[in-house]
Amino acid sequence: MSPWPRSAPTAAHRASFADAIPRSFWLDEEHGGIERPTPEPALVGDVTADLCIVGGGFTGLWAALHAKRDDPTRDVVLVEGETCGFGGSGRNGGFCVASLTHGLPNGLARFPEELATLERLGLENHADLCADVERLGIDCELEHTGEMDVILDPTTGTDELEEHAELLRAHGHEVQVLDREAARAQLHSPVVQGAVWDRTGASLVHPGKLALGLRRAALDAGVRIHEHTRAEDLRETPDGVEVLCAQGRVRARRVVLGTNAFAPIVRELRRYIVPVYDYVLMTEPLTPEQRASIGWEGRQGIGDDANQFHYYRLTADDRILWGGYDAVYRFGGPVAARHDESDETFGRLAQHFVTAFPQLEGVRFSHRWGGAIDTCSRFSVFFGTTHGGKVAYAAGYTGLGVAATRFGGRVALDLVDGRDTEATRLRYVREKPTPFPPEPLRSVGIAITRNRMAAEDRSGKRGLWLRTLDRLGLGFDS
Ligand SMILES: Cc1cc2nc3c(=O)[nH]c(=O)nc-3n(C[C@H](O)[C@H](O)[C@H](O)COP(=O)(O)OP(=O)(O)OC[C@H]3O[C@@H](n4cnc5c(N)ncnc54)[C@H](O)[C@@H]3O)c2cc1C
Repeated sequence: MSPWPRSAPTAAHRASFADAIPRSFWLDEEHGGIERPTPEPALVGDVTADLCIVGGGFTGLWAALHAKRDDPTRDVVLVEGETCGFGGSGRNGGFCVASLTHGLPNGLARFPEELATLERLGLENHADLCADVERLGIDCELEHTGEMDVILDPTTGTDELEEHAELLRAHGHEVQVLDREAARAQLHSPVVQGAVWDRTGASLVHPGKLALGLRRAALDAGVRIHEHTRAEDLRETPDGVEVLCAQGRVRARRVVLGTNAFAPIVRELRRYIVPVYDYVLMTEPLTPEQRASIGWEGRQGIGDDANQFHYYRLTADDRILWGGYDAVYRFGGPVAARHDESDETFGRLAQHFVTAFPQLEGVRFSHRWGGAIDTCSRFSVFFGTTHGGKVAYAAGYTGLGVAATRFGGRVALDLVDGRDTEATRLRYVREKPTPFPPEPLRSVGIAITRNRMAAEDRSGKRGLWLRTLDRLGLGFDS
């Protein structure tokens, strides 16, 4: 039972984001605390490399760093169509969460026999990410706050929360169940009905600083980066693969693709991924009085428990990032700058924000943006190889890739290098998700699913359509 108003957003809601800067706060030099580097030169002409990486987001940058750490003499070239961090990596909420399965319940449903291993690998990956950030001297405002799953439905009993907490505890997490009073003591909001606070493997990060820090580290390690260089096609050759770009070509022995939700240059990816847009508002810094009025001393990353969920967090300068709820799929799955904004969704976000924090009415938003999420039907990264095993990809993080991309880059590299590891032997790595049907069935199916998910949020009842999808192993999430 959702607390969000069903009325249309008012002129006041729309005014609160009207002057917001229409791009990611995390990549804004003036407010986001980053220094944008001079772009690395675009590729012109032919170059050779041992390894070519396509995509300068977290997946590609981690893959480059892993490759250099494995063998510092390996010649690595990374091509990025825009500038590093341009995609989801520079636009996300900064929730850096260990799970490789988009949470334990999803992992339990899909990979029960491997869940213990996946959880362990996820926690190790999260710990190693934190250690790498330290070792590489990347100041990305990492905060180990844990994550609080907030309950919105007043009919949810504490026994249900305890059940969820027990599953987490069974996998070694330190978890606290909070009833309504205790949860509201953490977060002063009238929509909160209870919470589960998981303190294990959940941190917050400044994603822009992380992406640019990884870029710097890759350059320092000797990776050659070409920005504003879009890979247009791949061609297999006897001893490798040619990565064909607009004004040049990389002849590489091996290729790793980290292109996320963007139009894939490997056709088979189109069956498995739908780009779903997610939108975010960022407030101006709160005044000390405003900050005190919301509690939130633990500064936890927060998500609510609905199908259409909000996620929110504080920044180092005490702004609130408020995102999620609408997950927008457009016919044919276009990914383009014109979709980075949606007034309809921003209006709803602004309206829900003051419903959650009535004491902050009048607070304005300084930034608004959106980005495409590489949604797949299993809600977690999957892998594949093409071109005779010389190309590997990692994609499908479905909105939980800040930490998982470090693992994704590692596994894609191991696959293309033919390395046999604990991870590459897993069904999780070997198996693909159920593909989505082609258009127009794809759009129709997604529209019905979204409608039924919203209905479940309102009524608390899971209808026949969603139960059937559950049985088929298909789904939809942001
Ligand atoms: C609004 C939003 C909020 C999110 N919040 C969270 C969160 O709080 N926590 C979390 O864990 N995850 C979150 N995510 C998901 C997370 O950001 C992604 O899973 C992660 O950043 C994926 O990294 P990536 O490197 O695979 O992809 P990207 O960061 O998208 O990088 C792909 C790169 O490839 C480049 N590219 C694409 N095609 C080509 C080509 N042909 N040639 C050259 N370059 C190419 C693109 O320009 C892009 O820079 C969020 C995502 C969005 C959009």
